[in-house]
Amino acid sequence: MISTSIPYYYKSLDFDKLVKEYEPPIEYLEGGWKWDRDQIESTQLKRLHETLARGAELPFYQRLWEKHNFIPSDVKSLADISKIPMYTIDDIRESIAIDPPFGDYQKYHFEDGQHTPLRFYTSGGTTGAPRPTIYSAWDREVGAILSARTFYLHGIRPGDAVMNSWAYSTHNAAWIMDHGLWHWLGCTPITTGTGVVTPTEKQVEFIKTFGISSILATTDYLVHIGNTAMKMGLDPKTDLKIKTLSAFGGKDPVKKIFGCPVYDSYAFHEVQYVAAECEAEQGLHVFEDAFIVEVVDFETGKPLPPGHKGNIVVTALYKTGTQQIRYNIQDISASYEIRKCACGSYHKKIDYFQGRSDNMVKLRGINVWPEALGEIVKENPKSNGEYFCYVERIGGREEMTILIEPKFSSTDASVMEQEFESELKRRIGVKINVKMVEEDSLRSLTGHGSRAKLKRFEDRR
Ligand SMILES: [Zn+2]
Repeated sequence: MISTSIPYYYKSLDFDKLVKEYEPPIEYLEGGWKWDRDQIESTQLKRLHETLARGAELPFYQRLWEKHNFIPSDVKSLADISKIPMYTIDDIRESIAIDPPFGDYQKYHFEDGQHTPLRFYTSGGTTGAPRPTIYSAWDREVGAILSARTFYLHGIRPGDAVMNSWAYSTHNAAWIMDHGLWHWLGCTPITTGTGVVTPTEKQVEFIKTFGISSILATTDYLVHIGNTAMKMGLDPKTDLKIKTLSAFGGKDPVKKIFGCPVYDSYAFHEVQYVAAECEAEQGLHVFEDAFIVEVVDFETGKPLPPGHKGNIVVTALYKTGTQQIRYNIQDISASYEIRKCACGSYHKKIDYFQGRSDNMVKLRGINVWPEALGEIVKENPKSNGEYFCYVERIGGREEMTILIEPKFSSTDASVMEQEFESELKRRIGVKINVKMVEEDSLRSLTGHGSRAKLKRFEDRR
């Protein structure tokens, strides 16, 4: 039957309820940001119960929980969260195989769009096949509020023009940032997208011509924009009027080029912004009204004490569509001790993104991950920061090799190889083979200029 009514967006949400439950930036900094631990934890427990009830309606969780003999009423306190079975991307893949092409973890399907406005995005597929997610209007708006909170914490203010150099594509990132700027921050998004859509020289011209005050991009692309500006004869520190930058993955190289404040954050496709850095610049605060974040041991899955590196496990508390309940995202971080931050917030902090544990390679008993090698390479001024790692099996032995681009092609490659090899051995504790390659030769491997998140690793075993 043909539907005779349209679910207009302006009628699709109770916006007053939305902003009361998930405060936008200014209200949040005066409100939820200052909650004490009791307020944070009682809100989390209430929302966890609601989340479990929503999860119980989805076949994905029915299967997972039955397999592990878990029932939602087992959760009586926040500490009981460890009773809930975790899942990983492998379970998502299995769900898609059981119920293709969306998987049985979706609450909504396209035909529900006749009753409520929906959005569809897929993950960028950093590893493996893309994961689809269908978002309700509520899930989009809370995600946009979390984006706006992040940008506000990073010094972006109403009236700013913000260039969004993430890929406007089937991936969620650019869109949720766009909606945050537009709906909840009073900023005008400049929708350049990546260098493939708007060449980087053109992006630099946009910044200069229109007086753009901030750019949203990965660290890698911000560095590329800065280097491109310099090649165009501009000084990014003085010729561009950048006020502040919200980077993704390492701030120092960006600070060096632009000379302005740079802040980091943590987010991923299904749940949007999870954590953001504050002015204290010591770790990322989790938005604890919207998430419970744990860090667990790589192998045993047991919760780890503060300071220990493990996998990030996320429970989203705000979503009405797909649910993420103890999703082991396999991103590496560590928890901080919970205490009042210099910024005044008691919200739990996690360490900066350290890489992906499914890229982690065990070499002679030592855990090695490509991003950690990359950080060491980036610190050395003889490299331009571009690298690519691969692991292979040679005669029954695992060997890791890192390809590095030099800053100046005149430097003697064999001398640099020896220098990097001994530095990596000293810092990581195991031998990594180093091969110096030509400048700009790694683009086809990393996707530099075409991918938002670069590929840094290949398993050739
Ligand atoms: Zn803080």
